[in-house]
Amino acid sequence: MSEFVIAVSELTRRFGAMTALASVTLSLPRGSVYGLVGANGAGKTTLIKHILGLLRAQEGSVRIFGYDPVADPVAVLSRVGYLSEENDIPGWMRIEELIRYSRAFYPAWDDAYAEELRKMFALDPMAKVKSLSKGQKARAGLLIALAHRPELLVLDEPSSGLDPIVRRDILGAVIRSVAEEGRTVLFSSHLLEEVEQVADHVTMISGGRIVVSAPLNEIKESHRAGERLPTLDEIFIAHAAGAAPEG
Ligand code: ATP
Repeated sequence: MSEFVIAVSELTRRFGAMTALASVTLSLPRGSVYGLVGANGAGKTTLIKHILGLLRAQEGSVRIFGYDPVADPVAVLSRVGYLSEENDIPGWMRIEELIRYSRAFYPAWDDAYAEELRKMFALDPMAKVKSLSKGQKARAGLLIALAHRPELLVLDEPSSGLDPIVRRDILGAVIRSVAEEGRTVLFSSHLLEEVEQVADHVTMISGGRIVVSAPLNEIKESHRAGERLPTLDEIFIAHAAGAAPEG
């Protein structure tokens, strides 16, 4: 078995003349919470799409649990929980149908846990997905992402546009996933104070390149200005401005 849950090596992706990812190398060990941060258009979703096998590496390689996610999608996706910002679950399904439909894809689906999440998220089994609010849809997406107790949970901008209660549910889910031994979380977010609350490790991406990737406490220490540790927001803004603050 691979030592790393995610092993991305020298990954480059171009869309026409535009380089969305430039020689990205990233390895996630089991049991860690990785925050992926970067400005709009930095390349976060493009990286996540490669991890899920939705895009094929043009240059470099991507291995998830040691498998190529494009060549072996079942081996990879049956062990991954995924929630995206778009959260494109079929609108015509009722919650109970969505649960029945989703469980067929995951051998490790846990009915009791799915029901526990449904109750916790106050989702009416008879409600149609298209009638749900954005926050309820996010909860339904999160239920599907978590109920098979994935080894890897990937959250792409899970909090954007959501109220504090739904965000708390999502953060809680992240923490719970990690608490269950050996689970790994990769989540991208623009809400850096949330990243600070839950991430062990932060990877900052800018213009398709990784500019910082280290344990959160190391990043903060290395950007310390005198007595006070900077916030992740301050570190991010300094990097976005083209220069890291004096360390
Ligand atoms: P955001 O925070 O706004 O979601 P992001 O960091 O997720 O941004 P990506 O969606 O990965 O950024 O986009 C990286 C760059 O690649 C952007 O310039 C985007 O316009 C471009 N891009 C992404 N997908 C495509 C595509 N299918 N065709 C052309 N360009 C694309």
